Amino acid sequence: MKALGESRKLGKGTHSWSFLDKTYNLKEEDRLMEFQDKTLTCTDCGKEFTFTSGEQSFYKEKGFQNEPTRCPECRLARRRDRNTHNRREKKLYNVTCASCGQPTQVPFEPRQGRPVYCKDCFTNAQV
Ligand SMILES: [Zn+2]
Ligand SMILES: [Zn+2]
Repeated sequence: MKALGESRKLGKGTHSWSFLDKTYNLKEEDRLMEFQDKTLTCTDCGKEFTFTSGEQSFYKEKGFQNEPTRCPECRLARRRDRNTHNRREKKLYNVTCASCGQPTQVPFEPRQGRPVYCKDCFTNAQV
């Protein structure tokens, strides 16, 4: 495939653009007319982050109306958090009932010297 135009970097932010025998000098800003890097503040950690022109065009492509409100780190942390929540099960400890000797599980860490009872014995003990 033959390229119609050729873009050459001319130094700081300026491009020379040759197209059909004409040469245009474009500034970086003109090239990215629509999208420019934006500095947004994260609502979670309050840090500033960059909403890059690339991300902005991506958002537009996807039809997202809203700008991101969180920095990439917080977004990642939240995603990780949600996964952990979904996967997290109540941690149970295997113990032996002090009353009937049956193996059982309790949702807390048994402390040494303290008798732990299975659910049945615990219920019975309370009555
Ligand atoms: Zn953040
Ligand atoms: Zn028991």
